[in-house]
Amino acid sequence: MGEYLVEGKFVLTMSGAGIGVIENGAVIVSGQEISQVGNAEELKEKHAELPHLGGPEKIVMPGLIDAHIHTGIALLRGTAQDTWNWMQQGIAPFKKHMQPGDVRLGSMVNIIEGIKSGTTTFADYDYPLDEIINNYLEIGSRACLASTINELSPGMDKLKIGELYPLDEDLGRERLEKALELMEKWEKGGEGRLTFLLGPQGPDMLGEKLLEEIKDLSQGYGYKMHMHVAQGDREIDQMEKRYGLRSVPFLEKMGLIDENLIAVHLTEATEEETCLLAEKGAKMVHCPGSIGIIDGLVPPVLEFLEAGGSAGLGSDQAPGNNCNNMFNEMKMACILNKVKKADPTVMPAWKALRMATIEAAGVLGMEDTIGSLEEGKKADLLIIDINQPTLVPILGSPIRNIAPNLVYSARGHEVETVMVNGELIMENRKMKRVDEEKICREASAAGVELAKRAEGDILSSANEMVQLMEKGYL
Ligand SMILES: [Zn+2]
Repeated sequence: MGEYLVEGKFVLTMSGAGIGVIENGAVIVSGQEISQVGNAEELKEKHAELPHLGGPEKIVMPGLIDAHIHTGIALLRGTAQDTWNWMQQGIAPFKKHMQPGDVRLGSMVNIIEGIKSGTTTFADYDYPLDEIINNYLEIGSRACLASTINELSPGMDKLKIGELYPLDEDLGRERLEKALELMEKWEKGGEGRLTFLLGPQGPDMLGEKLLEEIKDLSQGYGYKMHMHVAQGDREIDQMEKRYGLRSVPFLEKMGLIDENLIAVHLTEATEEETCLLAEKGAKMVHCPGSIGIIDGLVPPVLEFLEAGGSAGLGSDQAPGNNCNNMFNEMKMACILNKVKKADPTVMPAWKALRMATIEAAGVLGMEDTIGSLEEGKKADLLIIDINQPTLVPILGSPIRNIAPNLVYSARGHEVETVMVNGELIMENRKMKRVDEEKICREASAAGVELAKRAEGDILSSANEMVQLMEKGYL
């Protein structure tokens, strides 16, 4: 870590209402923080002694924030797709055969995938989290972590579809205690790069008693709650069978809807429920790629925004989305919402860029630290090569095409260098702290071994992918 001058033909600060463009701009990084943002010529003259990064053929922008991701199941990538029962028949038969080493390696691959496509903060939501915490400490990125709290005992894949999940209170308690232990041990760890949220997995996955306790912790200590809400007809069915209420009315009855709630997905939320969440100050995470593939649906993010709510974007997980690339998520958010509304003006590119940066920071309660390039914020930034074929040409006038080109055309490989907390963790596409090739090779081998262990359960599940194999399509 040191001091740098980072120059860009265009610096996208994300301050103000839009993407905050400074043409011929520069950012001065001092230690972990941004100390100045302004005109490149002036700053170069003033700070001629500083090492120089970027240049007049680069875009400099804040690191992307993946506001919802489960890196721990990355080794299941591509194993549960084109199916109706993603969770029970798709991932569950694999998941029960995962070992801690599989979690660690898959997560490492996922984090590298994210960094190489510009993600600097990962709102990672997993169990067990210990190995994943070590990955973030090692790799150098920022993480806003939640240890998944549920009361689900193993054997979900053996339940009939629609059968009420048995809940195990002791298991839930054990998981809450584990979560609190990790929060106490690691909050502000990794030179301040690690922060924590509470992570009840969903209103259907733990009992009222434990949810009540988590609510008291959230309200008492100001911890935000990162929770899947109305994430599928499966969840609504469970809630109606268990409580006679849909998810959102149930959470309202419990007093759980407030500014500390980060509601992920809302796939099945009605317009009324969506507005209620927004009006009560809850935040939303929109995962368009994941929900598009898993459910064939587009969640009501436009309605949520319209009602005054703020939302971030998330990639969710490799076996749902099949990739963890925020450029993909920005593009999906725009295109899917335009198609849903048959209106090309909804969800413009600049809005998607904000939802992957400053607005995501607000959703996670980190708006004072990250999400924009402003004096005093942490130096989490990307240097992007404007001469990549997917970006050419980048115009400053008469129309600035930077936002559309980044959102609709870029794929992530245009990100040349990634800085987190003032440290270069990827430079000229090379990971600086870890051996990418070795990790990917080990993770590939671990994935093959996991598939072997899970073979019996997979073949006996009703997963459509097994049937597609039998028909010779896959
Ligand atoms: Zn999720």
